[in-house]
Amino acid sequence: MPLRLVIIIPFTLLFTLATAIISGILLYNNHAASREAAQQSMVQYTDSMADYVSGLVAPLHQIVRVNRDALSNGSLDIHRPASLAAPLLRQMRLYKHLTFISVASTDGRYIASARDPDSQQPPHLAVNFISSNAELGAHRPTEQDLIGQRITQLPPYDPRQRPFYISAIHAHPDISWGNISRYIGFPVFGLGVSATITNEEGEILGVSATGMALTQISDFLASLVAEDRGYAFIAESDGTLVATSAPDMPLTSAEDDTHRLKLSAHPSPLLQTIGKLTQQQQISESIDISGELYLLNLQKLELGFGNSWWLGVVIPEQTFTSAVIQSTYRAVTLIVLMLVLITLVGFYLAHSIASPISKIASLAQSGSLSGLQSLPQKNTLIREVTYLSDTVRSLASELQKAITELESRVKKRTAALRKANLKLKKQSRQDGLTGIANRRTFDETIDQEWKRAVRHRHPLSMIIADIDYFKSFNDHYGHQKGDDALKAVAKALDQQPQRPGETVCRYGGEEFAVILPQTDEQGATEMAEKMRQAIIDLNLERDDIDEHDRVTLSLGIATIIPDNNDKVSTLFKQADRRLYQAKEAGRNRTKTGKKDS
Ligand code: GH3
Ligand code: MG
Ligand code: MG
Repeated sequence: MPLRLVIIIPFTLLFTLATAIISGILLYNNHAASREAAQQSMVQYTDSMADYVSGLVAPLHQIVRVNRDALSNGSLDIHRPASLAAPLLRQMRLYKHLTFISVASTDGRYIASARDPDSQQPPHLAVNFISSNAELGAHRPTEQDLIGQRITQLPPYDPRQRPFYISAIHAHPDISWGNISRYIGFPVFGLGVSATITNEEGEILGVSATGMALTQISDFLASLVAEDRGYAFIAESDGTLVATSAPDMPLTSAEDDTHRLKLSAHPSPLLQTIGKLTQQQQISESIDISGELYLLNLQKLELGFGNSWWLGVVIPEQTFTSAVIQSTYRAVTLIVLMLVLITLVGFYLAHSIASPISKIASLAQSGSLSGLQSLPQKNTLIREVTYLSDTVRSLASELQKAITELESRVKKRTAALRKANLKLKKQSRQDGLTGIANRRTFDETIDQEWKRAVRHRHPLSMIIADIDYFKSFNDHYGHQKGDDALKAVAKALDQQPQRPGETVCRYGGEEFAVILPQTDEQGATEMAEKMRQAIIDLNLERDDIDEHDRVTLSLGIATIIPDNNDKVSTLFKQADRRLYQAKEAGRNRTKTGKKDS
C-alpha cells in the first residue's frame, strides 16, 4: 500500500468515527436536554396558571365569607340594604377583577356593587328596591347620595330566582359554587360564589354573593402561551371549557354561543384527544395528533368547596426541538467542515511526507545509480527524509565509485591475463632451451601443411637434421658447452627459411625437423645444403674427434605430393632413413632420393 494511503486512511477513518460519535452524542444529549427543558417549562406553565387562577378565585370566597359574617353578626344590616352600598363599592374598588359583589335578602331586595365585564369604568350600584315593582336599576352613587342617580333601568329582578341564590340555599350552610353562566347582555361567561346569611337562631336572612368574568382568564392564557407556540386551556372537572388561550379553540359552539363546549366534544382534534385523557390526576406525556407530536401537561387544581379545574398546556414538540436540532445541525456541519479541512491538510501532509520517500523508493527500484546520485539536496521540509535522501545519494556515489574502480581493475587484469596467456601459448609451442619451435609445433604444423598439400596437390618436403658425434662433444666439452652449441645450431637453422610456412623445429635431443610447404625435392635439397653450410659457417670448433674439426650436421630429405592414402609417418620415416644414410655415408652431408648428392 502506498505510504500516503497508510497515513491518510486511518487518519480519515478515525476522524469520521469521531465525528459520527460526537454528532450522535450531541444530538442525543441536546434532544434529551430539550425534552427535559420542555417538560420543565410545561410544568412552569401549568404552575403559573394554577397561581393565577388561585389568586383570582381566593378573593371570591373571602368576600362572600366576610360579607356573610358581617351581615350575620349584625355588623352590617341586611334590613337596610342601602346602607350596604358604601362597603360593597369599597370592596369592588379593591378587587378589580370582580364583576359583582351582592347581597340579596329573603324578601327579594337586592343590592350589588358591579362593573361590566371587561370594563375599565368605576363600579356602579345595581339595586331593585328603589322602584316600586322591583325593577333593577343601575345607579351611579355620589358623595352625598349613597345610591345615586339611576343611569339605566332593567326589567324587574327577583334574586331569589337566580342560580346564585338557589345554589346558596342548596349548599346551606356551606359556601356554594354557582354554575358558570352567561352574563345578561354580554357575550361573556362568569363564575360566582355564594353563601347564605343567617341570624343567631340560624334563620336564613339572605345570600351573599360575588362573581367574576372568565374572559380575563382567557386573556391571561393568551399572554402566557403565545399563539404560535401552543395552547393553554382550563376546563371544569367534567371537561367543560372555562378558558382557552387561542381564538381557534373557541369556548362555545359556533351555533349557540351560550353553550360551552366540552373537551371531548370540541371541534379541535387536539382538545378532543385530551378530553379522553382527563380521567387521570396528573398527565405529562406526548400525544400524536395526525402525525404531529405534542407535549401535554395537565394538572388538576382544587378550587375548594368540592370544585376543581383542569389546567392544561399543549405545545408541539417541534417548538422545543427545532431550535435544538438546528443548533445540533450547525455543530455537526461545523464538525464535518472541520473533517473536510483536516482531511485536506492530512492529504497535503501525507503527500509532502510520502512523495519524497516515493521518489527515493522508485529511483531505488529502477536501480539507476545516476538517478539516485541526482537526488536533490533539499527536497523536503522533513529532516529525516532529507537525511535519508542524503544517505541514499552518498551511498549511490560510493557504490558508483567502487564499481568504476572495479571495472578498471578487471580491465587491467584481463589485459594482463591475455598477455600471459599469449606468452604461455607461445611458450607451449617453443622449445625451452633453444627458443625455436618445439616438437608440438612440428606435429601441429605438419598436420596442417599435409592437409593443405593434399587439398592443393602441392609438394611437401621434410628435412630431418642431426648433429654429428654430439655425444662425444658433450662428453668432451661438458653439457653446458653442449647446450651452447645446441642453441647456436638451432638459431642458425631457424634463420634459413625465407618463405612463410617454412618451419624449423627441435625434434628432440640434437635432432631438428624442417617443414617446407610447396617445396619440391630440389628446393628442399637447396634448403638442406644452405643449412648444412650455415652450421659449417658457425665454425664451432672441436678436436674431440678426428673426422671433423668443427660441429657439423647430417640431413635427410623426403618430398611428397600427398593424397588421402598417404601418411605423414611415411614421409617422416623416409626423411629419417635418408638421415641415417647420410650418417652412414660419412656424415656432414645431405641425403636425398637421388643418388650421390
Ligand atoms: P651420430 O653422429 O651417429 O649422431 O653420433 P652421436 O654421438 O651424435 O649420436 P648419439 O645419438 O649416440 O648421441 C647423441 C648425443 O647428443 C647424446 C647426448 O649427449 C647429446 N645430447 C642430446 N640432447 C642434448 C642436450 O640437450 N644437450 C646436450 N648438451 N647434449 C645433448
Ligand atoms: Mg641423434
Ligand atoms: Mg648425432
